[in-house]
Amino acid sequence: MLIGQKITVLGAGIAGLAAARALALRGARVTVLEQAEEIREVGAGLQISPNGAVVLEALGLGEALRARTIRGQAVALRDYRRGRVVSHLSLPSDGAGYHFAHRADLIDILAEGAREAGVKIRLLQKVSEIDLTDTCARVTTAQGAEFGASLVIGADGLHSRLRPVLNGAADPFFTGQVAWRATVPAPADMPRVATVYMGPGRHLVCYPLRGGTMANIVAVQEQAEWRAESWTQEDDPANLRAAFSEFAPAVQDLLARVETVNQWGLFRHPVAPHWVADRAALIGDAAHPTLPFMAQGANMALEDAWTLTSLLAQHPEDRATALRTYQAARKDRCTRIVEAASKNARNYHLTSAPVRMAAHTVLGLASRIAPKQVLGRFDWIYAKDVTRDFP
Ligand SMILES: Cc1cc2nc3c(=O)[nH]c(=O)nc-3n(C[C@H](O)[C@H](O)[C@H](O)COP(=O)(O)OP(=O)(O)OC[C@H]3O[C@@H](n4cnc5c(N)ncnc54)[C@H](O)[C@@H]3O)c2cc1C
Repeated sequence: MLIGQKITVLGAGIAGLAAARALALRGARVTVLEQAEEIREVGAGLQISPNGAVVLEALGLGEALRARTIRGQAVALRDYRRGRVVSHLSLPSDGAGYHFAHRADLIDILAEGAREAGVKIRLLQKVSEIDLTDTCARVTTAQGAEFGASLVIGADGLHSRLRPVLNGAADPFFTGQVAWRATVPAPADMPRVATVYMGPGRHLVCYPLRGGTMANIVAVQEQAEWRAESWTQEDDPANLRAAFSEFAPAVQDLLARVETVNQWGLFRHPVAPHWVADRAALIGDAAHPTLPFMAQGANMALEDAWTLTSLLAQHPEDRATALRTYQAARKDRCTRIVEAASKNARNYHLTSAPVRMAAHTVLGLASRIAPKQVLGRFDWIYAKDVTRDFP
C-alpha cells in the first residue's frame, strides 16, 4: 500500500486519470495538474479493446464503461470504390470485449472515478518546470504555483514536459499522412462494426457511438505537405469530401453529414529511451506516442497506469525496484505495438491496383477459411491482461 505517499501526476488525460485513481485507491495522496481550464475532450471516438477494458474493470469502472459505450461485434475491411467486403471478422461476444467509446465519456468516467477516490484535480496549471532532487520532485506551473511530491508521474501526452527532463529533446518526423476526424449523426441501423474502407493512398474508419446515435469518422490520406501536429485544428469539410469523393455511397452519405472537422499531421516519435528516474516515471503518450492505426494509444496508457501503480504498491519501501520493473515490463511491448501501428498504414494504403486486389483476395480468403487465425494474429495485443499477468 502507498498510505500517505504524496504523488503528483502531470496531465488529466486517460493515462493520468487512470493512474491517479489507482494510486488513490491504494492510499496515496494524489494531485493531478492539468493545463486546461476544464476537463474536456474533442468530440471523437476511441476503441477500447479487451486489454484496456480489463484495466477499467480492475479499477472498478467496468460497469460505467459498459453503460456508456457500444460493444463492438465485428471488424470489416471494405474496398473503397463499391464498398465490397474484403474481410469480416466477428469479435468474441464473451470476455472483456471491444468497446466503441466517445473520448469525452471515457474521460468523464475516469475523472469521476479519480475524484471519488480522493484525487485532487487542479485545473489551469500548466507545468513549466520540473526539478528532481534527492529528496523531492518539485513541479512549477506557468501560473506560479509550486507542488512538491515524493514522485512525479508524467502523463502529459505528446508534448510532455517530463519526457525531455529524462531523455533530452526528441526528433519527431512527419509520416507523409494527414488525418481528419469528425463525429456525425449516425445513419439508421448503423451496425456495431468497426469498418475500414481501404483505397489507394487513403483509408477511412467509421463506427457507431453513444447508443448508435452518433458515428465516428477517422480519414487518413497520404500527402506530401505537412500539417501541424495538433488534434484541434479545424479544416473545411469540403476538403475531406473532395479527398474521399471516389469512395463508396455509404461513405458519401457519412461525409455529407460532416459539419465540423479537425485535421492534423501524423508524426512518428521515437519511444522514449528512459521512462523512469529516481523520483519520476512516464506513462501513456508521454512515453510512447503512436500512430492511430492499431487503435492502441489509450489502451497502452491504461496498461501503463495499472502496471506502474501496482508495482509501486507492491514495493512501497523500494521505489527503485518498482520503477525499474515497470520500464522492463512495458517498454518492449509498447515499442512492438507502436511498430505494428506504423506498418498497418502501409497495408491499408496499397496504391497499385493489381497488388491491392491480390492482397485483398488473400485477406478475404484467409478470413473466410480461418477467421480465428486472422484475428489471433493480434492476440499478443488484445489478449494481454496486465491485471492478471503481473510482473
Ligand atoms: C485520431 C485518433 C484516434 C485514436 N483512436 C484510438 C483508439 O481507437 N484506441 C486507442 O486506444 N487509442 C486511440 N488513440 C490514441 C489515444 O487517444 C492516445 O494515445 C491517448 O489519448 C493518450 O493518452 P494520454 O493520457 O497519454 O495523453 P493525452 O490524452 O494527450 O493527455 C495528456 C493530458 O496532459 C495535459 N497536458 C499536456 N501538457 C501539459 C502541461 N505542460 N501541464 C499540464 N497539463 C498538460 C493535456 O492537456 C492532456 O489533458 C487515437 C488517437 C488519435 C489521434
